[in-house]
Amino acid sequence: MSWFGWWSGSQNSFFGGLHPPESKERTAEVPIEVIPPPTEVRIALLQHLGAACELLVKPRAKVQWGEVIGRSDQFISAPVHASLAGTAMRATVATLPNGRHVSVVPIQAAESQPLAGSALYDALLGGTWPLDDAEQFRPHEIMDAAREAGLVGMGGAAFPTFVKLRRQEDQPVDTVLINGCECEPCLTADYRLMVEAPQPIVAGALLVRHALGAQRVIVCVEDNKPLAVRALRELEKAGVEVLVLKTKYPQGGERQLVKAATGRVMPGGGLPVRVGVAVLNVATVAALAAAVYRGRPLTHRVVSVSGGGIRQPKNLLAPVGTSYRELIRWCGGLTPDAARVIAGGPMMGFSIAADDEVAEKLPTPITKGTSGITVLTQQEVQRAEQTACLRCGRCVDVCPMQLVPTRLALAARAKQRSLLERYHIASCVECGCCAYACPASIPLVQLIRVGKIQFQNS
Ligand code: SF4
Ligand code: SF4
Repeated sequence: MSWFGWWSGSQNSFFGGLHPPESKERTAEVPIEVIPPPTEVRIALLQHLGAACELLVKPRAKVQWGEVIGRSDQFISAPVHASLAGTAMRATVATLPNGRHVSVVPIQAAESQPLAGSALYDALLGGTWPLDDAEQFRPHEIMDAAREAGLVGMGGAAFPTFVKLRRQEDQPVDTVLINGCECEPCLTADYRLMVEAPQPIVAGALLVRHALGAQRVIVCVEDNKPLAVRALRELEKAGVEVLVLKTKYPQGGERQLVKAATGRVMPGGGLPVRVGVAVLNVATVAALAAAVYRGRPLTHRVVSVSGGGIRQPKNLLAPVGTSYRELIRWCGGLTPDAARVIAGGPMMGFSIAADDEVAEKLPTPITKGTSGITVLTQQEVQRAEQTACLRCGRCVDVCPMQLVPTRLALAARAKQRSLLERYHIASCVECGCCAYACPASIPLVQLIRVGKIQFQNS
């Protein structure tokens, strides 16, 4: 296998990309485990792209599991729900891994929860799901259920799902892609979901197809996940197609997936709908099925907790709002050489703590878009010393957006807004390929992130 990806004109590929070590073996065969209800969750009022929710409950109010506790009247938004039964406390402010300061509502858990353990798993993911029933619903009913359940993209983007389910006469969708690529190293939350709970994924995929009036729904999986492919193929007769794609990072990126699966090229800055495609993550469509068929709002999600710095890496089904500290503790804590805690995977994630003392105290709550926590060891974070640019061009070769990362980084360093614009900084998807490939160890993606902030604020 070559280290770097190169241009491929074939349909099932995309420009650039690379093959970082997958590092999924720690959790790939570890079944999803339901954590016991934590004593407290902290529900962020902004967990999605769009407007923050207004708090609907007063301090000391009793809340039921699944009760709406925050909502916005802005169009692009998603309500948030209590992920435990308990008592709401006074809202405070927390800093999320992306650096945003948001209001959070602590909920102290009641002694008794309506569902826990295997009963909770069964309620959200288990049992038999209707695979021939989507057409009993009107399209707007599916969209409304997604909105009320607070569904957002669970692959990390956290875009409100109901917006994607709106039929638009001027932009019809003929193909729905269900993203099961999970190309980010270390993460296996989606993989375990596909292996253990393919039925709600397929049921949700069929709901999306019906909601949008699309002709095809294709579940896309990389070829490093044969068990997931097998589990999903057993359900193909329900009306979904399963497409196996080459393993290459970032195959799960929206633009790369659309190109690889359909051959269509999204226009710069455009959404998949511009080329007649809708893209939803596997966990999102499973949550849609739970919302539509079982009336369950999005209160829990599967999170991979992995990396060399975790004693017992696992895939955990946890309430939204659980702290990173609690999840790490549930995995046996950190190894002595743990050095960096990352929200997400090592390529696209955000570093949130750089020494284990801080990490042990992590109060940061997980949100609906948290697919994983990765803890790297001292050895894993060591990089060669940064040197001057060698003008080797590797960053350009691997950039899936066909940008010139080295120029973007220079423009960011120089705070040159006009150059940032000329080099299309807004098109950068922060995949990290450029920084990973750079032999001079230049932190290209970090510089580009800073440049984006300069660009947005100028
Ligand atoms: S982080 Fe941005 S510039 Fe770097 S390879 Fe990815 S898309 Fe290109
Ligand atoms: S990969 Fe690094 S050294 Fe090579 S051209 Fe890009 S920035 Fe320069």
